[in-house]
Amino acid sequence: MSENLSRNELIEAIKNTRKSFDTDNPTIPFIEGDGIGVDIWPASQKVFDAAVSKAYSNNRRINWLEVLAGQKAYDFTSEWLPEATLDSFDEYGIGIKGPLTTPVGGGIRSINVSIRQKLDLYVCLRPIRWFQGVETPTKNPGDVNISLFRENTEDVYAGKELEMNSEQVKKLNNFLKSEFSWDIREDSGIGIKPISKTASERLIRSALNYAVENNKKNVAIVHKGNIMKFTEGAFRAWGYDLVKNEFSDVAVSWEDCNGQPGDKILVQDVIADAFLQQILIKPQEFEVIATTNLNGDYASDALAAQIGGIGISPGGNINYENGKSVFEATHGTAPKYAGHNKANPGSLILSGEMMFRYMGWNEAAELIIKSMEKSIFEGNVTYDLARGRNDATTLSTEDFAKSLVENIEGF
Ligand code: NAP
Repeated sequence: MSENLSRNELIEAIKNTRKSFDTDNPTIPFIEGDGIGVDIWPASQKVFDAAVSKAYSNNRRINWLEVLAGQKAYDFTSEWLPEATLDSFDEYGIGIKGPLTTPVGGGIRSINVSIRQKLDLYVCLRPIRWFQGVETPTKNPGDVNISLFRENTEDVYAGKELEMNSEQVKKLNNFLKSEFSWDIREDSGIGIKPISKTASERLIRSALNYAVENNKKNVAIVHKGNIMKFTEGAFRAWGYDLVKNEFSDVAVSWEDCNGQPGDKILVQDVIADAFLQQILIKPQEFEVIATTNLNGDYASDALAAQIGGIGISPGGNINYENGKSVFEATHGTAPKYAGHNKANPGSLILSGEMMFRYMGWNEAAELIIKSMEKSIFEGNVTYDLARGRNDATTLSTEDFAKSLVENIEGF
């Protein structure tokens, strides 16, 4: 499939992806995950199976296929990310994973980044919303309801670095001095971050399409273009061009409508540092965000903190052009809790909810959301969400999942 589809081609591609899950018994590969993976995966799987069984009166069922990555893969195969795992995600077009240890000093920089890059999953989608009952450090967490689209393949993910005083850095420094008259201090490390028109457009196009499909009223392009004009600034400019060239029937930039978009989606841009202030002061003004890799990293974690927890923040890595996707818990392996039946499985469960929605299995997704809302509101939660509440019952990982399953069966 072409690297850069037009808006209509992309909508067709998304429809075709949904058709490919149009079976009652899809096979979905999963990675259990390291550390607390042994606790949170089995708990999550029970919730997924209960939601599917209830939503479709036992007429649909997932065939879960375990594939290996991380420590478990290394122990069995001496590889951190076996080719067979990538092949399975590629073949079935979808997958879900628990957290993975980043091997220290191994040949692989990060297993998570490798999965995203090898499958070209160019969108990292992080929906961020508050669940009533979760303690937060902010006053009005209910005002946060944001879908953040973070570019997932370049910027610092494709960044190159050279170490201070290395032969290569000296060579590059000499070249920059002679060819460009760039005077860089000699004792510098040098990093390069590429941001391309192709990758920027496909990311921003996905965010705009999502806004159209989900009746959102605004999209913000977040960048640091005031300082980095030809990377971050270009990301902003390519975004506005895209609005004009492909979305003018449904969206308009602030500049072109003076802030009065009528019934169109309002597209504006915000400089990254101002954005981090504005999500604290007026988060209700943001619905969909399209941003570069590093800005997206900072912003998604800041937003997760704002709604009270890494334990309940889900994520999806998606290529909307070929339909491939891998959904994942966004926290790490929390090794000190591994095997203690204590960690919150919420992030993985909500990643499954995203996966079902992506498949078009909205009924199962709704049941998961409703059961999560009920248990958290009633204070039946794991230790992390019980902290700071005096009306909560602290449940184990397994019992929290049981409470969700009971809710689902009772709806
Ligand atoms: P972490 O595993 O996310 O844990 C940091 C803290 O976050 C935990 O001690 C715990 O805080 C809280 N936490 C995380 N997950 C939780 C859950 N499910 N339920 C309740 N609390 C949870 O971060 P880390 O210690 O920096 O990283 C450990 C390993 O994970 C590293 O190897 C890192 O590379 C890897 N990692 C993987 C991913 C991924 O696979 N996507 C992401 C990040 C890090 P309290 O103790 O305060 O309760």
